[in-house]
Amino acid sequence: MQGFILNLRRHREEDLIVTVITSQALMTLYRFYGARHSPIALGHKVDFVAERTPFQMGQMRHVAHLGWGWLADLSRVRVWQQFVQLLFQHLKGAQILDSFYYELLEKAAEKLPVQNPKRVLLESYITLLEYEGRLHSDLDCLVCETPIKEEQVALARAFVPAHSACLYAEGFDRDQIVRLFETKESLLMDDEQIERLWRVVGEGF
Ligand SMILES: [Zn+2]
Repeated sequence: MQGFILNLRRHREEDLIVTVITSQALMTLYRFYGARHSPIALGHKVDFVAERTPFQMGQMRHVAHLGWGWLADLSRVRVWQQFVQLLFQHLKGAQILDSFYYELLEKAAEKLPVQNPKRVLLESYITLLEYEGRLHSDLDCLVCETPIKEEQVALARAFVPAHSACLYAEGFDRDQIVRLFETKESLLMDDEQIERLWRVVGEGF
């Protein structure tokens, strides 16, 4: 089967506990160290076999990397790995998953070589919020619970809107945020805006 490596944890010096997301599940598997094994890296897409064992945890075997060209581009990989780790923190504990999350990663990975990676993954994140019913398109303030009518809207963790004055935070252009929430596209935003929005993503899913 195929999946993305969402988390890696070392065990007994050389072995690894690997969390991998497939189109149907979040699997935690044991990977024994072996000199002939190809190294596994966070965020990589792999083909593998999950072998049942008498123990609780299955074993990850016959791993083959399904690489993309951009994996050699460290600046892109760092942003990708940051996103993948945020997703892991969000999903950990789940076992059976809707294919939405796997497909979200697939689509983003395809766009990554040609676009600003933070832009791609910001749009992915907004798509995730909408899918989970957590996208606050109504623009009511988190703090005082009244509608935000100002030209600027501040965003708390998970893009929950608030008045700049209520959140004590610098705002974003209201029209652009409305458009981002509606279309899940950030076309009208410049890279500086994307950088600021990415910091909100980094606060956690
Ligand atoms: Zn307010």
